[in-house]
Amino acid sequence: MVVAALGLMLLPAGCGSAPARAGGPAAARPRAHSPSPTASPSPSVQAKLVESTTPPRGGDGPSGSLRTTGTSAVALTFDDGPSPVWTPKVLALLKHYHLHATFCLIGEQVKEYPKLVARIAADGHTLCNHSWDHDEYMSQRSTKYIRSELTRTTAAIRHAVPGATVRYYRQPGGNWSKRIVRISRTLGMAPLDWSVDPSDWQRPPARSIIANVKSHTGRGSIVLMHDGGGDRSHTCAALRTLLPYLSRRYDLIRL
Ligand SMILES: [Zn+2]
Repeated sequence: MVVAALGLMLLPAGCGSAPARAGGPAAARPRAHSPSPTASPSPSVQAKLVESTTPPRGGDGPSGSLRTTGTSAVALTFDDGPSPVWTPKVLALLKHYHLHATFCLIGEQVKEYPKLVARIAADGHTLCNHSWDHDEYMSQRSTKYIRSELTRTTAAIRHAVPGATVRYYRQPGGNWSKRIVRISRTLGMAPLDWSVDPSDWQRPPARSIIANVKSHTGRGSIVLMHDGGGDRSHTCAALRTLLPYLSRRYDLIRL
């Protein structure tokens, strides 16, 4: 396969082979923009507006979790890291395209690779709590246990990045319950679900990951991908196409 653009030749080696080909030219879509206020209210009115427009947003996902960004912007999220092999490659790709994302970190991995967590934060990405040991059965645990696992993970992240704010929790497997959502919010973390899932953890070919994300992403999408949990070469190969594709069509935000 011919490498089409010089920029792609400068991408980190080992993150998949040549960029996977996208399916044909995409239909032109208007670039999404976040709404902006049309007028500047007085300070007292402004204070009321802030108060009235920023309640804890009720989620549109399972058990009241968040499955969209709440604006027209699209958010990329990467789960199950940090991985000493794949996280640096994903970070390099994001940096190459000047993009930011949200990394949902497993406490055990954070403890083992704190310098990687510091690097994610230093690159300006958002840190999200993804439980201590990827407990997909969290909904069956006691409230005390859930609180302890979430608190322990945030503490590990803050140990790696002193002063870090962890404002999101993502339940492994998306196995939410109302209690997990409530505990997450009580601990100051918005429950973060997703709306686009190419199942990249199952290692489908890069072209399948690309096609899935392209066909399902729209305004406000939260896209789930993985930088940890196994061989992520297909994910990396897909990102080489998806990052420029998505950034041409949407405002890509970290949460
Ligand atoms: Zn996960």
